[in-house]
Amino acid sequence: MEVAAPRECCGLMLGDRATMLVDAILPATNVAPDPLHRFEIDPAALLGAYKAARAGGPQIIGHYHSHPQGEAMPSTIDAAMAQGDGEIWLIVGKDGAMRAWQGSQSGALHGRFSEVEIESSLARAGVDRH
Ligand SMILES: [Zn+2]
Repeated sequence: MEVAAPRECCGLMLGDRATMLVDAILPATNVAPDPLHRFEIDPAALLGAYKAARAGGPQIIGHYHSHPQGEAMPSTIDAAMAQGDGEIWLIVGKDGAMRAWQGSQSGALHGRFSEVEIESSLARAGVDRH
């Protein structure tokens, strides 16, 4: 994620929408006109992921982006962009902290987001082994 700084980085999270488990992340180009303060996932990457999902591939669970100057919390700009249909917003703050938020029509934050717990795949793999 440091590679993109001071610009915001962004990408998609793919996996199973029923369980919200992320299988893969797909870094995308930030095509926002003001990439220092905004993010906009490359539409070609988005379209490709939707097509792959329709063809039986992993579904789009949500996306991530960084706040190189800020906290790992959605901004009011993020709230205005959110669909509020259960998509996950993973945000990386300036200190490298990651927090995950789920978009909804009645979230506690900006009326749009509720924080969700991040369960690491490593922890999950450990559980599966024992
Ligand atoms: Zn943001």
